[in-house]
Amino acid sequence: MRKCEVAVLGLGLMGGAALNALLDAGVDALGFDPVGPGSDRGSSHGSCRIFRRFNFENPNYTSLSDEAHAGWIRLQSESGQTVLTETPVLEAGRSGSAMVASSRAAAIAKGRADPMLTAAQANKEFPAFTLPDDWDVVVQDGGAILRTGVVMKLMRARAGNRVIAERASFTPHHNGVSIRTATQEFFAERAILALGPWLGRALPRLGALLNVTRQAVGWFDPARPDTVALGRFPIFILDRGPNDMVYGFPDFEQHGVKAAPHNHGRVVDPDDWGPNATDAELRPIGEALAALVPGAAGPIIDRDVCLYTNTAPADRLPDAGEEFIIDRWPDSRLIVCSACSGHGAKFAPAIGQRLARLATDPSYEAESFFQLSRYSQFA
Ligand SMILES: Cc1cc2nc3c(=O)[nH]c(=O)nc-3n(C[C@H](O)[C@H](O)[C@H](O)COP(=O)(O)OP(=O)(O)OC[C@H]3O[C@@H](n4cnc5c(N)ncnc54)[C@H](O)[C@@H]3O)c2cc1C
Repeated sequence: MRKCEVAVLGLGLMGGAALNALLDAGVDALGFDPVGPGSDRGSSHGSCRIFRRFNFENPNYTSLSDEAHAGWIRLQSESGQTVLTETPVLEAGRSGSAMVASSRAAAIAKGRADPMLTAAQANKEFPAFTLPDDWDVVVQDGGAILRTGVVMKLMRARAGNRVIAERASFTPHHNGVSIRTATQEFFAERAILALGPWLGRALPRLGALLNVTRQAVGWFDPARPDTVALGRFPIFILDRGPNDMVYGFPDFEQHGVKAAPHNHGRVVDPDDWGPNATDAELRPIGEALAALVPGAAGPIIDRDVCLYTNTAPADRLPDAGEEFIIDRWPDSRLIVCSACSGHGAKFAPAIGQRLARLATDPSYEAESFFQLSRYSQFA
């Protein structure tokens, strides 16, 4: 039986970052995942995610973004590959949009100039848009296209032969965790479970707090390609009302404008994703583009499905839900990570560091808003 100090189960962005952080720190760590970079499964698949410095979800995330940014820049300079492509982020919503107000407040709190624009100013600066006059708009700097396809390959390459490309099951013991794959057995002093949508299945008690949803993504052939090219067009997030957010990217891959809903799709089993994104799922996105970003609107040329893993609102700490879980699992040598909820990718280097520290430094705790004790059943 092979032994190691820390086993990382699941090598999406979170587990991959944790394994890299452990190996960089000289820890005897092994990672397990049957799925490799370039696959179309797992919540981290695909070429890109949005990096935002100022996060409307939680002002505390600015420092997490800054920490992660340093990690991305390190990865970029060490690999010589583009990991972040700096791009402004336009956030707009109906008058009084809480999303816009929170993003604006987070930027101002860090001493940035007020990022507020009128809709007319935004439409002039970015002619693909026709935002209504009474909409609130902010354009934040510090945003970027995060090249997750590149990142997944780099993380896996850095881990080298410390990766076992097999599905793993685990059994906790008082002194460690035994890990079993189809062909091998291992014993780890501690194990990090970074299983994304599959985490709730591995720990059903945690699964009761997690909600896995199917998220449709489309690529649209832009009506006016010149207006949506990289450098001329921002990343955008449009708040059209309750449970109706649409986001998208510039056409940075000459593959059309990638756009998707940020509201939750239907709840699914992580092994049963259903068909590829349907016309019915993508129709509201096409309609939103036609109404608000006509330069980007056009026929659907590609489509995909990905999964969000959403956390339930906490009942002990103020929390609107969708906060991450980064903590030790009670009475065990397991560390759990559920960092999806549709906005975790950007933080992966910072989350990986936290997971590595939880596994190696008994005195370390992640921030209280990431801890399980925010739920009364874990307090
Ligand atoms: C459509 C979409 C858009 C998003 N947009 C953004 C965005 O713009 N910005 C942002 O910051 N975030 C975004 N996110 C969220 C972000 O992508 C996720 O937070 C992140 O990818 C979650 O990574 P993960 O490592 O937790 O999960 P995953 O990537 O799902 O990794 C889990 C891994 O566990 C493996 N696994 C499962 N079972 C086992 C087992 N038994 N043994 C070994 N391995 C196992 C799986 O194969 C998988 O690779 C988006 C997510 C989606 C779905």
